Amino acid sequence: MQVLLAISFGELFLKGANRRIFYDRLVKHIKSNIENIGYKDMYLESAKLYIESDEDKYEKLIEEISKVFGIAYIDKVYRCEKNIDDIYETAKYIIANNHSKSKETFKVETTRVDKSFPYKSPELSAEIGRLVLDDFNNLSVDIHNPDFKIYVDIKNRVYVYTERHQGLGGLPLGTSGSGLLLLSGGIDSPVAGFMMAKRGMKINAVHFHSYPFTSKQAHQKAIDLAKLMAKYTGPMKFYSINLAEIYKAIATNCDRRETTILSRRIMMRIANEIAKKNSYQSLITGESLGQVASQTLESIAVIEESSDLPILRPLIAIDKQDIVDKAIKINTYEKSIEPYDDCCSIFAPNKPVTKPKLHYIKKSEENLDIEKLVKEALFNMEIIEI
Ligand code: ATP
Ligand code: MG
Repeated sequence: MQVLLAISFGELFLKGANRRIFYDRLVKHIKSNIENIGYKDMYLESAKLYIESDEDKYEKLIEEISKVFGIAYIDKVYRCEKNIDDIYETAKYIIANNHSKSKETFKVETTRVDKSFPYKSPELSAEIGRLVLDDFNNLSVDIHNPDFKIYVDIKNRVYVYTERHQGLGGLPLGTSGSGLLLLSGGIDSPVAGFMMAKRGMKINAVHFHSYPFTSKQAHQKAIDLAKLMAKYTGPMKFYSINLAEIYKAIATNCDRRETTILSRRIMMRIANEIAKKNSYQSLITGESLGQVASQTLESIAVIEESSDLPILRPLIAIDKQDIVDKAIKINTYEKSIEPYDDCCSIFAPNKPVTKPKLHYIKKSEENLDIEKLVKEALFNMEIIEI
C-alpha cells in the first residue's frame, strides 16, 4: 500500500485539442511550486496526475499545489493490488485511521477504467460497502448525503481514498494570453490580477509611485504584494515608474480637480508603452464601478480613450466587501491595509471631477508635454524580477 497525491484537472479536459498544452503548463506550474518540498515520483494515469513523496510532506505539498490554477481536486490516495481483498484491506485501513470513532454515514463510489476487472462498478461498491458495515458498527450507508465517500478508482493500478481537497479551479497559467496589471498598494488591484491569472492569463505588474513625495515603504509594499501574488501567478516582472515629475507638471499647469483623471490617462499611456514593448496583450486594473470619483462610467470612458490595448476590469461589478473577502482568501489583505500613502492619495484633489468631459480633458492635456513626460518616466523605469 503506497500513499500518493492524485490531482484531477478542472475545465482543462473540456478543451480537446489544447489538452496537451494545458496539461504541460499545469505540470510545469505544479513542479515549480513544489520543488522546494521535494517528491520522489510523478506520473499521469487516466487523466489524473499522481505524485509520490514522503508521508510527512503531503500536508505541505497539498498546500502548495492548492495554489495552482486549473486543478479541481487534490486527493490523498492509497495505491493497492488489483483484487478485492487488497482493495478492502486498504479501505479498512483508511477508515480505521479516520472514521472509526463517531457515528457517520458513508457511500462507496467506484470508477472502473480497466474494464477487464471482474466486478462492475456498482457491484464492487456494494461489496466494499457490505464489508465495511460488517467491520464498523459506528458506520451506516447514506447514498444521497453521506458524511464521507470511499472512492475506488480501478485503472492500470488501483487507488482507494476518502480525503479530498477542493482545488482553485480556473485555467492553467499562460493558456489565455498575457496582461499587465496596474498594481497599486491597495486592496483591489491584487485581487484583479489574481482573477485574471485564474482564467489562465500570464500576469506582469506596473506600479506608479512618486518618490520622494511617497515613501520607500509604500514602494516596498507594492513589491511585497507582487511577491504574495506570485505564489499564484508565478514569477513576474515588476515595472516601477516614478510619476513625481508628472504630478508636479499637472499641479503647475492644469486644473487641480482634474489631477486624478489626467494622471490616470498618463498611467495608461505608460502602461501601453511597456505592454507593447513586451508583447503583453491587455491591461488590468482593480476598478469597480462607482467606488470612487475616478470610477464613474464617465471617468472610465475618458480613461479608456487613452489606451490602445483593451483594459480588463474584473472587479467592475463586485462589491467592496466581496473584494475584501477575496483579498483575505488570497492572503494579500493584511499587506494591502498597511497605512502608507500612495501617489493618488497624496495628489488627490479635495473635489475631483466625477463627470469629466473628454473635450475639456484633452484641452488640459495641451498644457502638458505628455510625450516628453512619458518618455522620461519610461527612461527612469526600474524593473524588478519577482
Ligand atoms: P486599489 O485598491 O487597487 O488601489 P482603488 O480602489 O484605490 O484601487 P483607484 O485608486 O481609483 O482605486 O485605482 C483604480 C485602479 O487604478 C487600481 O485598482 C489600479 O489598477 C490602478 N492604480 C491606481 N493607482 C495606481 C498606482 N499607484 N500604481 C499602479 N496602478 C494604480
Ligand atoms: Mg488605490
